[in-house]
Amino acid sequence: MELNVTRQEQAELERLILEHDRIAQRFTRPRQMIYLFVRRAGNRGVGAYVLLEALKTYSPNARPATVYRALDYLLRLGLVVKIDSQSKFFARSPHSSQRLCLFMVCSVCGSVHEFNDPWCEKKIETTVSAAGSLLDRKAIEISVLCENCQPASAGAS
Ligand SMILES: [Zn+2]
Repeated sequence: MELNVTRQEQAELERLILEHDRIAQRFTRPRQMIYLFVRRAGNRGVGAYVLLEALKTYSPNARPATVYRALDYLLRLGLVVKIDSQSKFFARSPHSSQRLCLFMVCSVCGSVHEFNDPWCEKKIETTVSAAGSLLDRKAIEISVLCENCQPASAGAS
């Protein structure tokens, strides 16, 4: 069975294949499906186990290794990010994959929002290099209370 890919998702896959053409040969159909599952989860994100179950709907013989290899591949391309505090994977917004991004993670509902700010990016890179270090990951998690989860009084200003 095949995943029902919308026209918009197909266009997005084709764009990615063009953009990453050196590795595109390894952007196999199961990897494309995993990527679309992560994208469809939006800011709720999705865990590896749920991805495996979703993949099994289409390829009953899918194994955990298939999912982990696909996720490794997508992480290396910068198409998805792992939010450690949630043990979940999120799709990055298009064109942000090579940039340093902040991910605001709501400590109540677990929603994740990507935040991209050139000033912040520069500042963090400068601070890290001034300390003689190299950035290891281009994703920084910040714990927040999202708009929906703030106590009523906090939002009423
Ligand atoms: Zn929240």
